[in-house]
Amino acid sequence: MLESLPEKAVVRAGRVFVALRKSGRVPSSKSRVFHAVTPYCRMSLCADEPGPGSQWAEPPGQQITCPACLRRLNRLGNERRAA
Ligand SMILES: [Zn+2]
Repeated sequence: MLESLPEKAVVRAGRVFVALRKSGRVPSSKSRVFHAVTPYCRMSLCADEPGPGSQWAEPPGQQITCPACLRRLNRLGNERRAA
């Protein structure tokens, strides 16, 4: 059992991801993209990260919406075994 995981965590190939978006005051729709981010890890699956002095916004989203992250998630899911 993985009781300590966030409610909406995604598990792929033994790795855990949550849907996080960049924090900040930019009210554009682009900042509303949710990336797949491993908890306590700064970089998202698509190698994106918050700007200097910034961080991922809380709380995690309902689902990951970043196309690049989703593509990589799918690839992870297709692997027979994580390295
Ligand atoms: Zn992403």
